Amino acid sequence: MDIYNALKTYFGYDEFKDGQKKLVLGALDGKDVLGIMPTGGGKSLCYQLPAIILDGITLVISPLISLMKDQVDSLNEIGISGTFINSTLDDNDLNYRLQEIREGKYKIIYVAPERLNTYSFSSLIRDLKISMIAIDEAHCISQWGHDFRPSYTEIPRFIKSISNRPIVAAYTATATKLIVEEIKELLGLRTPVESIIGFDRPNLFYQVMKVSNKMSYVIDYLKSNFNDESGIIYCATRNTVESVTEKLNQQGFKAVAYHGGMDSSIRQQNQDDFIFNRIQIIVATNAFGMGIDKPDVRFVIHYNMPQNMEAYYQEAGRAGRDGEPSYCTLLYSPSDIVKQKLLIQNSTFSEQRENILYENLQYLVDYCNTNDCLRNKILEYFGEHSNVSNCSNCGNCLDNSEMVDITLESQKILSCIYRVQERFGVSIIIQVLRGSKNKRVLEFELDNVSTYGLMKEYSENTVREIIMTLISMGYIFVTADKFPVLKLSPKSAEVLKGNEKVYHKKHLLDIKPSPKKDSKTDANLEGLDEELFLKLKEMRYSISQDKKMAPFMIFHDSTLKEMATYFPQNKAAILTIKGVGLKKFETYGEAFLEVIKEHCTKNNVNPIEKIVEYALENHSTIDRYQQTYELYQKNMTLKEIAENRNFTVNTIIEHLSKCEKTGQTVDWSRFIDNPAKEEIILNAIKNVGFDKLKPIKEIVPDEITYEDIKIIIAKNGLN
Ligand code: ADP
Ligand code: MG
Ligand code: ZN
Repeated sequence: MDIYNALKTYFGYDEFKDGQKKLVLGALDGKDVLGIMPTGGGKSLCYQLPAIILDGITLVISPLISLMKDQVDSLNEIGISGTFINSTLDDNDLNYRLQEIREGKYKIIYVAPERLNTYSFSSLIRDLKISMIAIDEAHCISQWGHDFRPSYTEIPRFIKSISNRPIVAAYTATATKLIVEEIKELLGLRTPVESIIGFDRPNLFYQVMKVSNKMSYVIDYLKSNFNDESGIIYCATRNTVESVTEKLNQQGFKAVAYHGGMDSSIRQQNQDDFIFNRIQIIVATNAFGMGIDKPDVRFVIHYNMPQNMEAYYQEAGRAGRDGEPSYCTLLYSPSDIVKQKLLIQNSTFSEQRENILYENLQYLVDYCNTNDCLRNKILEYFGEHSNVSNCSNCGNCLDNSEMVDITLESQKILSCIYRVQERFGVSIIIQVLRGSKNKRVLEFELDNVSTYGLMKEYSENTVREIIMTLISMGYIFVTADKFPVLKLSPKSAEVLKGNEKVYHKKHLLDIKPSPKKDSKTDANLEGLDEELFLKLKEMRYSISQDKKMAPFMIFHDSTLKEMATYFPQNKAAILTIKGVGLKKFETYGEAFLEVIKEHCTKNNVNPIEKIVEYALENHSTIDRYQQTYELYQKNMTLKEIAENRNFTVNTIIEHLSKCEKTGQTVDWSRFIDNPAKEEIILNAIKNVGFDKLKPIKEIVPDEITYEDIKIIIAKNGLN
C-alpha cells in the first residue's frame, strides 16, 4: 500500500502536514527518526501510518496512561487494530490482551514506560516481531525538561534487550537544543532522519492582559467570545482552581476542576466530561494536560503566570490542535512573579540551577511587558527568528493604541517607595499616594511623608497598573517574602533623576477589551453554512453519546465545516472531505450524508465539487474485500493473506464473511485444522452465547484459538 493511499484510506487526508512525509518515508526506509514538531503538528500520524505498512508490530511508548484508551479507540475508529498495556488493566484483562497480542491481533501497541522491563512484557516481546518503537513525548527522558519521567530512563535498556534492533522513532514538541541533544544521546538514535518544524502556531492568537479584577475579566471575555466552546483555565494553586470553578458555575458556565488534590476518580471523570464535551471549561493546575489530544480546545487562559516560557507555550499550545483559530490569554499580575520567585528561592536546587530558573522566569516576565509582537517573542525564545515584525494575530500587533509617557507618574511612585524607606507593599504605597486615611497609614504616620496624596486624582487601579509595569520593567523590585515589600532597583535612579523616560502603551491606563473572535483572525471557510454545521454537530454529539465516545473521535470540527461548505451528496463526494477515510465512511458516512441531503433539499442548496489531489475512488471498500477474496481463491492460508494484504487475520476473516454475504462462496473448513474443534466451539456457544469471544475461549481447550472461534462463527453465519 502506498503512503498516500494509506493516508486517505485510514486518516481521510490527502496531504501530509509539514515534516510528516519525511518521517514516514524515513521509518519505512528502516531508519531511525526524530520528529520535533509543535503541538498539533501531527506527530501521531508519523508513527501510525508507517506502523500499518511495516510488517510486524509497532510499540508506542507514551507517558500518560489515562489517555491510552482514547488513543487506541481513535485508532480503532479509523480501522487500525491497536491496543494498550498499562496498570489500569487487571490481571485477567492483561493476560487476555497479552494472548491477543501473541495471536497477531494488533499492529500497534501502546505501552506505559513502567511496563517495559517487567517480566511479563519482556517475555512477550521475545516472541513478537517488533518493527518499530515509537517514543512519544520523548523529552520526558530529559532531566532538564519540566516533564521529566524517571521511567523514561528505562527505555534505552529496553531497546538494547531486543535482539533484532527495531526502528527507533522519537517525537517531541520541545525545541530546547539541550533537551533535543539529550534525547538523541540517551535513546541512542542512529543517524536519525530529522524533521524540525518551525514552532509557530499561526492559528493561535496570543495576548497578555493586565487587569485589576481577573475574575470579572474572565467572565466578560468568555461571555462575549465563546459560546459553549471548550477551553482550559490554568491556575497556580488548588485553591484558586476551586474558587474559579465555583464562580464560573455561579455565572452559568459548565466548569469543572482538575488538580492533584482531588480524588482520582473524580478527576478522571472531570477530564472525561471535558473531552466528551459534556462540560465546557476545565479549570486546572498544571497537573492537567500533558498528552491531552482534544483537538477542539478553543481557548486557554492562564489565570496565573506559569514558571517559564517553555511551560507557558506547552500549556497554551493545547489550544487549537485542529488548526482552527484559538485564543491564548495570559493574565498578568506582579504577585504571581513574587510567588514564582518564592518557589525557586525555597527549592533545594543548586545555585546554578536556581539561576537558570530565575532567568527562565524573567523571560516570561519580559514577554508580559513587551510592546513588540508576542508571537515573535515566543519564537525567539525557541531560537527562531521571524522576518515580519507584525504578525497581525496577537494582542500587541492588533493594538494600535499609542505609546504614552508615564515618566511623571513613575517618578511619584518611585519616590514614594523611597520616602517610606522601602518597608511597605503595594497596597500601602497606593494608599499613601492616593492620600488614604486608612488605619495602617495613620498608624505608621505615613500621612506625613512628602508623597502623601500626590496621586489623588488617579484611580486605585491605575496606580496599581503603573506599579505593575514598573516592576516588570525592572525599576521596582519585590521581595520574595510572605508579605512582599517594594524596593527600588539601581535602575530606578535614572528615572528619578530625570535621565530616563518611561513609556507604555496607552491601554495600560484604560484597559482595552480583547479583540472579538470574529475579527479578521477567524479563518472560517468561505461559504460555510452555519446552520448545516450546527446540525452536523448535533448529529455528531448524539452519536458520540450513544457510543460513549468523544465527539472529535467521530469527526473533527474542520471535517464538519468542510461538509457544510461543499455539501457532498454521495460516497465519492464525501470521501473528498478532509478527515473522511474509508472506515469512517463505513461507520458514519450514511448518517451524515442523510443530514446534508435533507438540508440541501429543504433549502435548495447545490453541492460544490471539491477538487482533491488524491481521490480514493479506485480503492472502494468493495475492492478491498475483493482483493482479499482473490487471494483466498489462490488457495492461500489466512495468515498468508493477512501478510500479503497487511491486515490482521481477524480483518481477513471479516473481509471473507462480507464477501460471503454478497454472494461469493467461502469454504471455511479449509481454515480449520481439526474438524472436531467445530463441535466443541458450537457447544460452548450454546452455553455462553457468541456476543463476546472471551467467555467462549475460557471454556474450550487451550489449543482452540480466538481465530478458530471466529472462523466457526463465520462458517455458521452467526456474525
Ligand atoms: P501532536 O501529537 O503533534 O500534537 P496530533 O498527532 O495529536 O499532534 O495531531 C494533531 C491534529 O492534526 C489531529 O487532530 C490530527 O488528526 C491532525 N492531523 C494529523 N495529520 C494531518 C494531516 N496530514 N492533515 C490534516 N490533519 C492532520
Ligand atoms: Mg501527540
Ligand atoms: Zn504579533
